[in-house]
Amino acid sequence: MSTIRIAIDGPSGAGKSSLAKAAAGALGFLYVDTGAIYRTIGLHIYREGVDPADQEAVTAELPRIQIDLRYEDGQQRMFLNGADVTEEIRLPEVSQYTSAVSALPPVRKFLLEMQRELARSHSVIMDGRDIGTVVLPDAEVKIYLTASAQARAERRMLELENQGTPQPYEDVLREIEERDWRDTHRDTAPLRRAENAVLLDTTALNFQESQAALLRIIQERMGPT
Ligand code: C5P
Repeated sequence: MSTIRIAIDGPSGAGKSSLAKAAAGALGFLYVDTGAIYRTIGLHIYREGVDPADQEAVTAELPRIQIDLRYEDGQQRMFLNGADVTEEIRLPEVSQYTSAVSALPPVRKFLLEMQRELARSHSVIMDGRDIGTVVLPDAEVKIYLTASAQARAERRMLELENQGTPQPYEDVLREIEERDWRDTHRDTAPLRRAENAVLLDTTALNFQESQAALLRIIQERMGPT
């Protein structure tokens, strides 16, 4: 049986990860969070004190980066040179570094085949910024998941509070807007809605409503299974 590929793209904080993970669980598909893969590179560059906008310096680091994805109890865990960095890659400093390094073409090229390979061996729900446009342009289902910047900042604030690292609303909103700008304005693989992607705006929806809407779109696109 051939594999099925579901691509979910959208800006940060739109709920892609939690919604995609829940949908993957419901469908029995593998969930791949590609942001976590980019974040692992961002973390390495941050730790090494390299300027994330310096393409030459970042490219020189790539051969020193070994990234592994492992699934434990259905959770994707990220390993950088053999060490589990799943929690560390979520630090706000790492988010900003990641957004900068992921604008560099050599970084995107470095990760492209790894992402495609995962979708060859499994039916996947893959979330990111360029999954429907670049990584899996032939995906059976493409969804562009978004919400207003204010709604995304509010959700992110709650998440940070729950993690014990609260931040003021204005800072969270500014970080989201900065990342949106960088992700949509870069030359290589900018964030944009693929032509045949279904738009899902979750601004006015809670988690359950968003999840139901997502599953409905997937089922409509996949047809009866
Ligand atoms: O999805 P998440 O917010 O964890 O992604 C972190 C950053 O990684 C994004 O701001 C974006 O710059 C980058 N990214 C990307 N392409 C992807 C996934 C993430 O450029 N497919």
